[in-house]
Amino acid sequence: MSETLFERIASGQIAASVVYEDEVVVAFRDINPQAPVHVLIVPRDPIPRIAAAVEEDREVLGHLLLKAAQVARTCGLDEGGYRLVINNGRNGGETVPHLHCHILGGRPMSWPPG
Ligand code: AMP
Repeated sequence: MSETLFERIASGQIAASVVYEDEVVVAFRDINPQAPVHVLIVPRDPIPRIAAAVEEDREVLGHLLLKAAQVARTCGLDEGGYRLVINNGRNGGETVPHLHCHILGGRPMSWPPG
């Protein structure tokens, strides 16, 4: 089975600006940032999207969110606040079929999203 783009980043085959990694997740700067801080955090073992997650993914998903908050903190976003985004499917704006959580901060965010 072919590897996803984010698997190749996680394994170091494709260069990225990694800000955090452990045995379960990798966080790296988005190549097309939509905010002064825009980091993606992904599980090393791909889940295509949140809609495809199963009960066995509970621990990985919890870890992903806890580490997203930790990365936001280390990127200096705690005081000003930030947004976490998971795009799912066509209408959700998903373009890479490997679950990832966007960490966006450094400017005010509008609501609702476009
Ligand atoms: P989504 O639209 O939610 O699937 O988000 C995919 C994100 O991956 C987009 O924000 C892209 O800018 C980002 N992206 C695509 N290729 C790369 C790459 N090689 N390194 C870092 N970010 C990437």
